[in-house]
Amino acid sequence: MSKNPIHIIGGGLAGSEAAWQAAQAGVPVILHEMRPVRGTDAHKTDSLAELVCSNSFRSDDADNNAVGLLHAEMRLAGSLIMSAGDANQVPAGGALAVDRDGFADAVTKKLEAHPLITIRREEVPGLPPTDWDQAIVATGPLTAPGLAQSIAEATGADALAFFDAIAPIIHFDTIDMNTCWFQSRYDKVGPGGTGKDYINCPMDKDQYLAFVQALVDGQKTEFKQWEGTPYFDGCLPIEIMAERGVETLRYGPMKPMGLTNAHNPTVKAYAVVQLRQDNALGTLYNMVGFQTKLKHAEQVRIFRTIPGLENADFARLGGLHRNTYINSPTLLDASLQLKSRPGLRFAGQITGCEGYVESAAIGLLAGRFAAAERLGLAPSLPPLTTAFGALLNHITGGHIVSDDEPGKRSFQPMNVNFGLFPPVEAPKAEGKRMRGKDKTVAKRHAITSRARADCRHWLGLPAQPETAEAAE
Ligand SMILES: Cc1cc2nc3c(=O)[nH]c(=O)nc-3n(C[C@H](O)[C@H](O)[C@H](O)COP(=O)(O)OP(=O)(O)OC[C@H]3O[C@@H](n4cnc5c(N)ncnc54)[C@H](O)[C@@H]3O)c2cc1C
Repeated sequence: MSKNPIHIIGGGLAGSEAAWQAAQAGVPVILHEMRPVRGTDAHKTDSLAELVCSNSFRSDDADNNAVGLLHAEMRLAGSLIMSAGDANQVPAGGALAVDRDGFADAVTKKLEAHPLITIRREEVPGLPPTDWDQAIVATGPLTAPGLAQSIAEATGADALAFFDAIAPIIHFDTIDMNTCWFQSRYDKVGPGGTGKDYINCPMDKDQYLAFVQALVDGQKTEFKQWEGTPYFDGCLPIEIMAERGVETLRYGPMKPMGLTNAHNPTVKAYAVVQLRQDNALGTLYNMVGFQTKLKHAEQVRIFRTIPGLENADFARLGGLHRNTYINSPTLLDASLQLKSRPGLRFAGQITGCEGYVESAAIGLLAGRFAAAERLGLAPSLPPLTTAFGALLNHITGGHIVSDDEPGKRSFQPMNVNFGLFPPVEAPKAEGKRMRGKDKTVAKRHAITSRARADCRHWLGLPAQPETAEAAE
């Protein structure tokens, strides 16, 4: 059995975790990190796993929050990022926030001290040479230009994006279908469609005018100086379209043409917001054409004025950022391997996940998959019911690629959220169906306890006894 090293490019959140996991599995690793030889626009130190902005890993509540659940699963899998985070915690209520220098220092020291890990401070200028038969690209949203260029050349120009233009995504079960209805414009069936592929939210004239004004007045997030202004006409933020004239949206993403309100067929909507199914499970819908730089709280406030979305729960809010990420659902197989070049994996934000914890989680999986292959084993994929599996599935296959807008790629980065998990039936309380908040909480608990049990099973850990009694 070959014990050639696995080469990992990028010592950020994903690359550091991947290196740790592979080395802990007994496989030598060479970790290539370009800092301090070459910096990025956001990193400020030489440390591995530097947190470039906030110092929060977000909620640590494994029962009620999807990222808290991901923390729990990563701890079960022996994550270096989580153990260094736990050891450097600072008070932050229900969130896990860390002392950023202490955290990065702990990760760096652990990796430097590992007997199977060699760290090389050098830029990898292009795709790994072919004699690196197992390699992981984990170079993140600010991948150095030379490598980004060669990824684009190897995967096709459309396959690599340098900005994300994110439209909000909504949990289907929070959309009021007594107001909205399913229909594609002109009942167009299209490839793989049914003629009823969109959810439509109707507005009358007064509602539309008030909505346009709210978009114009809403508080926006500024671009960082180094990001430039990445607008191009096919992908303008919704509020910029609103600023161009009161009718612009009605002739763009909010046009009411070809639609009949199923609840009120004789009254024509003045404008319509359309939502499109986002994942194969049918649990998430994205707001078509609603990429935005509005502040998150403003998005929630303004978008909940849309008829049918008054109680919308957002799985993701919109944004527009400098980012580098590949079209993973098309390019990668289920174990994060480039289909056109077996042995070359991608990990972290460059795969289209979003966030420190998610990037580290995908690094954890890539490290384990590469190590398994090096040891002559088939990579073991986490079940879809776990946070690991749900996130991996979003990246490698769960997202529905929209084919009714030729030339546009619809895969956008996303944080882990409950909409990515296969749904569960809400348990009954004393034989009666639950409603409202109780039902939501019960469903979340059902999802998180199923996930933890399945994760333990996947990792070969003994089942967790539910109660002290059961443990005896
Ligand atoms: C400005 C900004 C702010 C963000 N803020 C947050 C936030 O507050 N919270 C949050 O959860 N997420 C945030 N993110 C998103 C994301 O979670 C982080 O970017 C995260 O660090 C991604 O992890 P990663 O391992 O994929 O990439 P990174 O952590 O960026 O690691 C990539 C590493 O690869 C190195 N590298 C790049 N190219 C090469 C090369 N050719 N050769 C060798 N090394 C190379 C880089 O120096 C870097 O160390 C932010 C992103 C950006 C860009």
